[in-house]
Amino acid sequence: MDYDLAELFPYIIAVLCLITIFLVISYLRQRKRDSLKRKSGDDLIFKGIQHILSNNTDQAIEEFSKAVHIDSNTIEIYIALADLYRSKGEIERAIRIRQNIILRPNLPEEIKNRALFDLAMDYRKGGFLNSALDFLLEVTQRIPIDLRAWKEMERLYQDMKDWKRAHEIRKKIASMEKDGKHNNILAHYLCEMGKERMKEGERGKAKSYLKKAISTHRGCVDAYLQLGNLYIQNGNIKKALGYWKNAIRFRPDLMPIIFESLEELYSIGDALDIIGEFLRKCKEENPSSYISFALARHLLKEGNTEEALKELKNSLEMNPKLWEAWRLQGEILLQSQRGDIVVDAYKALLENLEIPSFRYQCTECGLESQKMLWQCPKCRSWDSFYIKEAG
Ligand SMILES: [Zn+2]
Repeated sequence: MDYDLAELFPYIIAVLCLITIFLVISYLRQRKRDSLKRKSGDDLIFKGIQHILSNNTDQAIEEFSKAVHIDSNTIEIYIALADLYRSKGEIERAIRIRQNIILRPNLPEEIKNRALFDLAMDYRKGGFLNSALDFLLEVTQRIPIDLRAWKEMERLYQDMKDWKRAHEIRKKIASMEKDGKHNNILAHYLCEMGKERMKEGERGKAKSYLKKAISTHRGCVDAYLQLGNLYIQNGNIKKALGYWKNAIRFRPDLMPIIFESLEELYSIGDALDIIGEFLRKCKEENPSSYISFALARHLLKEGNTEEALKELKNSLEMNPKLWEAWRLQGEILLQSQRGDIVVDAYKALLENLEIPSFRYQCTECGLESQKMLWQCPKCRSWDSFYIKEAG
């Protein structure tokens, strides 16, 4: 059959027009459906956010989960959902969502890196420290200058008490963050390594770590204290007290830690004279209420009650809230049987007074501790604990 193309032309145009109209109508319908879907998706996200703001995590999770069903392409909702699950302690769910995000093809680099970091945080919160480390390592391989990831890794090694690795990572951080204070932290890591060696009885290795700590940071008080302990183990009291004197030079308020250790030394040979000389020298160089108090305790051991009372008076003049000094003064007066009203008053006072013993407090976050701590377990600051003045 032979058709004249010119005759068919109007039909072809008509068919093409019909197809175009059909396509346009379908497109507009789809767009309307999409926009309705998006709108209801947006509404759910909006509601979810409102629930987050009013701390209703469960409802927020519900709204976000609905939003994911409507539009499964929105990565942000998945991220928000995973964050919410983590905050609720539902770590396994958070991890599952995050793993799905990472597996998505064509995921923008930035989002993938963030998801890897968040996944590491999920694992840490779940107590899976090794998995957390693996993912942080991946982040640092992808972005070698990601300080946040390096710092989190350092923190994990602190939790694992892997001081050697923590030290390596702090060195990396120091090379990136030039203006930060790194030496005191590096010195603490060396000091911790020294303490570990001491526990193992390897005094030689311990000594070299502790000395390295001091050469890294001259004010590493813990290292002076530990070197003192080490020399006491070696039976060299004089050298031990030399290191403790250095510790007191930097932190006179740490005298109470030292007097606990001094108490154990009195039984050794000529310790009484050496300790007396040490305390008098400390007082000469850095007078403080704590040192006068320690000297008073020593004078009592020398049998010099009058001098001890004078030293306690000194101590209380410098710090009237040093309750331990009040207590010692009271005990001396009671023991020396000075039967007058003052003694009776003291007796009553001591019976009724709840004397707070020394406490330490973090100057960064306010956390209190019975023991001296070098790193705050709450805010992770180093060297932030000082004796809390009783109030
Ligand atoms: Zn703190």
